[in-house]
Amino acid sequence: MYRPLAALAALLCASAAAAQPAPSVSPALPRQPALIVAIAVDQLSADLFAEYRPHFTGGLRRMADGVVFPAGYQSHAATETCPGHATILTGARPSRSGIIANDWLDQSLSREDKVLYCSEDPSVPGSSSSRYTVSARQLLVPTLGDRIKAVTPASRVVAVSTKDRGAVMLGGHQADQLWWWNGRDFAGPAGQQPAPEVAAAFAAIRTRIATAQPDLPLPPPCEARAQSVPIGDGKTVGTGRFGRAAGDLRAWRASPEADTATIDIAIAMFESLRLGRGDAPDLLALSASAPDYVGHTYGTGGSEQCLTLLSLDRELGRLFAALDRSGVRYVAVLTADHGGHDLPERNQARAAPDAIRVDARFDAKAVAAQISRELRLDVPALLAQGADFYVHRDVPRRRRAAVIRRAAELLRANPLVEEVLLGSELAAMPSPSRPPELWSLAERARASYFPGRSGDLVVALKQRVTPIPDPRLGYVATHGSFWDYDRRVPILFWWPGVVPFEQPLGVEVVDILPSLAPLIGLPLPAGEIDGRCLDLDGGPGTTCR
Ligand code: ZN
Repeated sequence: MYRPLAALAALLCASAAAAQPAPSVSPALPRQPALIVAIAVDQLSADLFAEYRPHFTGGLRRMADGVVFPAGYQSHAATETCPGHATILTGARPSRSGIIANDWLDQSLSREDKVLYCSEDPSVPGSSSSRYTVSARQLLVPTLGDRIKAVTPASRVVAVSTKDRGAVMLGGHQADQLWWWNGRDFAGPAGQQPAPEVAAAFAAIRTRIATAQPDLPLPPPCEARAQSVPIGDGKTVGTGRFGRAAGDLRAWRASPEADTATIDIAIAMFESLRLGRGDAPDLLALSASAPDYVGHTYGTGGSEQCLTLLSLDRELGRLFAALDRSGVRYVAVLTADHGGHDLPERNQARAAPDAIRVDARFDAKAVAAQISRELRLDVPALLAQGADFYVHRDVPRRRRAAVIRRAAELLRANPLVEEVLLGSELAAMPSPSRPPELWSLAERARASYFPGRSGDLVVALKQRVTPIPDPRLGYVATHGSFWDYDRRVPILFWWPGVVPFEQPLGVEVVDILPSLAPLIGLPLPAGEIDGRCLDLDGGPGTTCR
């Protein structure tokens, strides 16, 4: 077909004539969004999203009516909060970002336990993994906000979460405003001052926390899910409704109220900084942590998670209403740092009798002691932190291979262990390039292997083994495994005028950054990221340039 206009354009632009014809840009996208809104929902598995999708009416409904990737993957094996948040706006798997876990071991540290927290600054005297100065210095790659500010320093980058690692890993190294809950109050980096609107939001949140809250009413979907599950010692979960005493900070944090506070602060930052109304694109990032605290405290299958997700849906609707009122051109993306699954006691009652808790059969200290005995070492042969097992630094160099060999044998023979990967083998593997749903366990571990931070062995427990031995202590369910219930999360894009489509094939959370970058003309140097651009135009046009 002869296209005279295209031919004329080519003649008028000699340099373009030599290049490929430019793909047409999606007419439905704002030409240049003035604001990117990035939302992480902590522990929102693809399974939970699918379960509740019919019940959403607010902000989650809006996102679910946009461009939907229901099988997004936190593709790596380290399905924890810090690695997950570090993938969302960096395009980097943990093998590149360096954030391989919430906590890992650094045997060069002088502290007794050698545990380093992911958003800690260990150079601060007296720092430990539980009492630390919050910092992004362990994150070895730039975030979207860092990259935007490098190109247009006038851009504003803000992030808020009730977890410090949620705020820091989204906001990055150069954020203008970072706010997180420190266990007693909202806090930020030293010297950071809240705008008056943000200070007013803090004051209102403190007042609410100081006021006793009655039980929440149960809407029909949550009433249907309110079934009591015994967890021992007469304790139960499953029917909770978040009534709490005045000033109960722990109960507040593991309740829908915490996400209401996060959204309040996000809206206050949006309005006080007039985000999206300057000359350069801005970034507003938030992480809603309540689904994670609630999931750990009560599991995912009862009234508690139901109330939490339906509340978050409403609260995100409130955020979008504020954005809409402003007239700012924005693009929103929503995903999760990891998935999760329910406590074994409820899974057993719900047709999964093989769901179990880890027990004395899997004991890292006993394995270490046995190897020390067998090899006649006078130090513990191994140290363990989560899935990572490290040869103790005092083991003589010539004995290290023997320790690793024997540890692999013992762990592989363990009835609760699916697979043991060796760090040396992971280091030699190429970074995976197949679709994430096809990855082997070794590929998953490779994507979160970082030399010097990861263990000498990485251990995958079997599916459906929850690594919490005793649920009576207030922590009943978790995530963090190699398995798809922890890896698979929704990835949702929305902007005013979006032409919706759904792509059920697997994509990765590291695809988010390279998908957003072309929308704001942000250059991404080749070789710096692990993801790829997802074409958010479901028709013949493309958003990937
Ligand atoms: Zn998390």
